[in-house]
Amino acid sequence: MLSNSLAALDRNHLLHPVSSFRGHEARGSTILAEAEGVMLRDTQGRQYMDGFAGLWCVNAGYGQKSIIEAIRAQLEQLPYATGYFGFGSARAIRLAARLAELAPGSLNHVYFTLGGSDAVDSALRYIRYHAEATGQPGKTAIISLEHGYHGSSSTGAGVTALPVFHAGFGLPLPHQHTIPSHYAYRNPVGTDPAAIIDASVGALRAKVAELGGPERVAAFFCEPVQGSGGVLVPPEGWLLAMQQACRALGILFVVDEVITGFGRIGPLFGCAHYGLEPDIVTLAKGLTSGYLPMGAVLLSDALYEAIAAHAGENAIGHGYTYSGHPASAAAALAALDLYLEGGVLDNGRRSGAHLQARLREALGDHPLVGEIRGVSMLAGIEIVSDRNSKALFPAALGMGARLAAAGLDKGVIYRAFANGTIGLAPSLTFLPAEIDELVDRIGGALDTVLDQPEIRAAMAD
Ligand code: PLP
Repeated sequence: MLSNSLAALDRNHLLHPVSSFRGHEARGSTILAEAEGVMLRDTQGRQYMDGFAGLWCVNAGYGQKSIIEAIRAQLEQLPYATGYFGFGSARAIRLAARLAELAPGSLNHVYFTLGGSDAVDSALRYIRYHAEATGQPGKTAIISLEHGYHGSSSTGAGVTALPVFHAGFGLPLPHQHTIPSHYAYRNPVGTDPAAIIDASVGALRAKVAELGGPERVAAFFCEPVQGSGGVLVPPEGWLLAMQQACRALGILFVVDEVITGFGRIGPLFGCAHYGLEPDIVTLAKGLTSGYLPMGAVLLSDALYEAIAAHAGENAIGHGYTYSGHPASAAAALAALDLYLEGGVLDNGRRSGAHLQARLREALGDHPLVGEIRGVSMLAGIEIVSDRNSKALFPAALGMGARLAAAGLDKGVIYRAFANGTIGLAPSLTFLPAEIDELVDRIGGALDTVLDQPEIRAAMAD
């Protein structure tokens, strides 16, 4: 291999997100070259069906001419506009107004970021400022859920409750705390929704009390469906009960919709699926369908008013050069048109129902499958070595890496989490026949792994 080949340059110079540097040196990466519709092609000419919409973000699928054209036109007209010192641009303003109109409750105030991690980080900054603004400087603790993912910023990664984001980084910070997830498949209280809800509400109240009461706790963070923790779907009524508990305690209820927004679980905002009206919502990914980087944090009227009143004529010291970037805003407005008027959300709902049914029909009895869960176009398949005991395969067998390799071999991309759970988040443009093919290819990959002697040997008889 030439030392200046793409593969060599990648190994020598490009740090990949959440990767083993040594593993990357040894294996390199699959270098993607082209995309159209629901398909990706790599530099070797191999084709893959993208069952993960990039990184659960390309909700409108690849090759959407209206988004590409909106970006191009914006770049020609005004490639950059600052939002600092009294400036603004039409696209960012229109997008903020559109999101405020479409968002649940009184989430009428939008700060744009570059992605989800800095949306969470911005939310944390506003939360802290709000506590000071309302004369409660000791209200600093943040509570989130085990298995939760809230990005990778130096503060937000501590709200994330996945060990790999903490190890070696000195996280979580002393004011960052967790309570157990609802994770029904492995919940010590069992699978009964009422029992899980009682346990979670009880755990939140107990944690708040342990930390010194509501005057010490600022906010509770959750995802409508826990994504990177393994696609964990809360029982019916769980989110509303947690919202109610937060209101009763007087702590902010923050919903991280970075994955669940923009049709991933049906409606434009996942909150609508569960009837939620949070104090703060974070967004990214599907906002631009991944065509350009952009995220957002939405603040309620009450939060905004408290911050604005306290600051008065003083500046609130939070800002990014690229907040409200006009090209990203143009992409987001075009994506919203596709979701709402272009039929993408409706298609996603239909194909999502089909995906959920087809996965269970085709793979529900597979010897490796412990549980299939999901909502609409978001799904998880938990892989176990024993369907009765729910035992996982030993970590040394590297189930995640095996599944990922088998998928590529069958021409399908999905997320293979380290413990073996498969994450699925196809673009909302998948047609039912394409969903069938996606599920067939996943089934083929599962069969490949099942045939491996070490896997057979590790399975219950
Ligand atoms: N919040 C959630 C729920 C996410 O799933 C993610 C990314 O997957 C983030 C935040 C971080 O977003 P980003 O990777 O755009 O920084």
